[in-house]
Amino acid sequence: MKVGVLALQGAVGEHIRSLESAGASGTAVKRTEQLSELDGLIIPGGESTTIGKLMRKYGFIEAIQDFSREGKPLFGTCAGLIVMAKEIEGGEESHLGLMDIKVSRNAFGRQRESFETDLEVKGLDAPLRAVFIRAPLITAAGPGVEVLSTYKDEIVTARQGHLLVSSFHPELTDDFSLHAYFVEMIKQTKRP
Ligand code: GLN
Repeated sequence: MKVGVLALQGAVGEHIRSLESAGASGTAVKRTEQLSELDGLIIPGGESTTIGKLMRKYGFIEAIQDFSREGKPLFGTCAGLIVMAKEIEGGEESHLGLMDIKVSRNAFGRQRESFETDLEVKGLDAPLRAVFIRAPLITAAGPGVEVLSTYKDEIVTARQGHLLVSSFHPELTDDFSLHAYFVEMIKQTKRP
């Protein structure tokens, strides 16, 4: 199984390492033509406005929308979550507009720019060490969205069919269980 990590900006190498720990082969994606060889794609953290601009510049908006239309799984972490959302609070234009969620950027405020915590995530056997860095929150979710975890009553992990998102960075620790969950999602969709 081959899983891509969008390599326009952000923590690409760490995601590839976590994917490989989860038994998949990870590859950095810099050109849209690479998407046809992939079974799934991760959109990493970074800065969502910059990632959005680079996606537009290199033709990734339509290419990833097509990839999603084929039912191929996508996993957005932190800024990747923001670019997958249908709505961004504050009137900012959405990017891929794939997932039926509304997000608030930098939602934890300046005093809590980054922190770590152990999170219970539905579908994982043990609490996950989650690293939040200037993280977004999901402030509203449509009926097709399943909430997988919350932090202080706010949604921080969610799934809608073949789409998975987390507010935090699951690639910055040695715990690859959320990557393993994503790899399992891909296996399910590949099954005839
Ligand atoms: N604060 C960033 C944004 O709004 C996301 C931060 C991250 O990906 N760690 O795009």
